[in-house]
Amino acid sequence: MEEKKTQNSLKSIAVFCASSDGVNSEIIETSKKLGEFLAKNNIRLVYGGSKLGLMGQVAAGVNENGGKATGVIPEFLKTKEVVHTQLDKLITTQDMHERKLTMHKLSDGFIALPGGFGTFEELFEIITWAQLGLHQKPIGLLNINGFYDDLMAMLRKMVKTGLLKKENYDLLIIAETIEELYEKMKFFKPQPTPKWITKSQT
Ligand code: AMP
Repeated sequence: MEEKKTQNSLKSIAVFCASSDGVNSEIIETSKKLGEFLAKNNIRLVYGGSKLGLMGQVAAGVNENGGKATGVIPEFLKTKEVVHTQLDKLITTQDMHERKLTMHKLSDGFIALPGGFGTFEELFEIITWAQLGLHQKPIGLLNINGFYDDLMAMLRKMVKTGLLKKENYDLLIIAETIEELYEKMKFFKPQPTPKWITKSQT
């Protein structure tokens, strides 16, 4: 019998991305388009709450298309130069840890756009939590313009070396376009809870 595909309900998505614009116009434009896509599909953006860089581009795409955005920013980053003042919700946290936990709680899924250390740290923490069975939400990587090709090669090397389990590698949903990524995230089927974590710990 054919298995019925169940869809994940993605009402809010956390986006991890650079606090700089960088120099690649396709990355900048696609970041804004992701904001537009979220707005048009009635998906709330949850993000770092900054008006800077790609974060600002995604927020602009949401705002210009009548969407909803929640910024989650730690107190120490909440300066005039950084914080976005035109969001319908802004949550201030005490520190970075509380910020990540809050972003996680508010989101049905996660998308990483190109970025630097901050983006990588957020992406790898959320995927590590998934690997431990602490959540089962889809995690997408938008490989704009091949930005993440080298990282993907590194991850495959980790699998080949036996240091990353293939089923954990598969937790990362990778696509080249926003539409393809969203479709894959909608139909992502989480792994059963790993045996070393009990249901009550999740
Ligand atoms: P990076 O990729 O190093 O530019 O860091 C971007 C990520 O780290 C974002 O997803 C933010 O959540 C966080 N972050 C780094 N810098 C800032 C900033 N100036 N304002 C707000 N969030 C930031």
